[in-house]
Amino acid sequence: MKSGQTFPAYRSRMEYFCLGCGRRYDIDELHYTCPSCGDVFLLRDTGFKELKQTQGEKWREIFDARAGSKDPALRGIFRFYELMAPVLEPEDIIYLGEGGTPIVESSPQLCEITKVRTAYKNDGQNPSASFKDRGMVCAFSYLRALIRRHGWDQVLTVCASTGDTSASAALYAAYVGGPVKSVVILPHGKVTPQQMAQPLGSGAVVLEVPGVFDDCMKVVEYLADNFRVALLNSKNAWRILGQESYAFEVAQWYDWDLAGKCVFVPIGNAGNITAVMSGFLKLLDLGVIESLPRVFGVQSHHADPVYRYYSVDEPGKRRWRPVNVQPSAAQAAMIGNPVSFPRVRHFAERFEALGGDGAFQVLQVTEQQIMDSMILANRFGHIACTQGGECLAGAVRARELGLLGQDELAVLDATAHQLKFIGFQEMYFQDSFPAEYGVRARPEFVNRPELIIEPKDKDRLSAEDYVAKAAENVVQRLGLTRK
Ligand SMILES: *Cc1c(COP(=O)(O)O)cnc(C)c1O
Ligand SMILES: [Zn+2]
Repeated sequence: MKSGQTFPAYRSRMEYFCLGCGRRYDIDELHYTCPSCGDVFLLRDTGFKELKQTQGEKWREIFDARAGSKDPALRGIFRFYELMAPVLEPEDIIYLGEGGTPIVESSPQLCEITKVRTAYKNDGQNPSASFKDRGMVCAFSYLRALIRRHGWDQVLTVCASTGDTSASAALYAAYVGGPVKSVVILPHGKVTPQQMAQPLGSGAVVLEVPGVFDDCMKVVEYLADNFRVALLNSKNAWRILGQESYAFEVAQWYDWDLAGKCVFVPIGNAGNITAVMSGFLKLLDLGVIESLPRVFGVQSHHADPVYRYYSVDEPGKRRWRPVNVQPSAAQAAMIGNPVSFPRVRHFAERFEALGGDGAFQVLQVTEQQIMDSMILANRFGHIACTQGGECLAGAVRARELGLLGQDELAVLDATAHQLKFIGFQEMYFQDSFPAEYGVRARPEFVNRPELIIEPKDKDRLSAEDYVAKAAENVVQRLGLTRK
């Protein structure tokens, strides 16, 4: 393998691989589920063995050198090109600034309160403000390659979404333009105003379905089965592939040494947790890392099918059952029938086989813990969304259960930016959560703006006196002393 910062010459072949029946399909066509058995796919690099001829040490050098590359095709998640999609040409690769998000260690004060050593990987610092851009840039880069090869003059991209998938899909579709038209299908009233503003601003057709995400997903699946559309949900295996970059970046951040690291990921449709496990396994396979971190999935008690499955200790007795979701502040993970569950099961088995017992675990937290944790984290300088709060709640829970050691570092996934979920913060501060959530504000966490001078004083007083009175009120409110 050539090192350096030029675009790699390595090209391979990839294929869809069915997790149900093991059949393989060519990637020259768009596939979402196996035409033969209906199960989900993974993408496989058929030449992966060749990569193993390069030493782990060398790979580390290559990826580290690329971290400083000026080539846009290598600046984002395709820094890990050989592990990602080594069938794409540089002209197919899109770069809107995704990936390379920082990991921010929690302040000593926060760790003192939570009794856990934590750090947040701020995936809300991606272009559409959630981790979804990692998978979406991969899916759209592949789509561009297909369009180029087939000379397609019209491609309709569709996705169902809890908000962030549509924001991301609409952004990349808007950038690619040309033959690509974007349609997003959202559960009516179940996405935040910020998330709704994003696909609208990007010019996508936004269609709403009364119900929850799972209902939208069924509509989209019907479309994908019967019409010529490109499906961008995480059923699309290219999305999972791109999201593996999260694992690669965590490893690189810690100089490829993951001993004593525990990675916490919220589980919704279970694409992200799949990708994170798959990514770490690839690194281990190539000798880029020497040991796996431990991976913890976290779910709310209002949407916890994966937790329920793994809460049965004996693998032979586990039964997969979708659940009906209840309202959750971790709204982006409020999914009762996760599409990627078969993928989770696949990787969890390998993860435990190679990482030992407890290498993969799923925790359940309450809505109250999710909200308290989001508010607390942000009080100490983080920018966590509600799902990020869910991760912190999970880490605290893991510590309580004795699953997380005192010296271990919990790396938490802030999957979106705080501002996307600010409505939940607002409900917390007003203590106005609808009863179904079961969330009450802790008074010591509440923060409200205070009106420091009456509006009617503005009419009553001269401009000068108005300012003087306002300033005087501030002085009294804060108890300021003169210098
Ligand atoms: C999509 C999403 C999730 C859930 O991820 P899955 O891959 O569906 O499990 C969590 N948090 C945010 C902010 C999301 O957008
Ligand atoms: Zn199959």
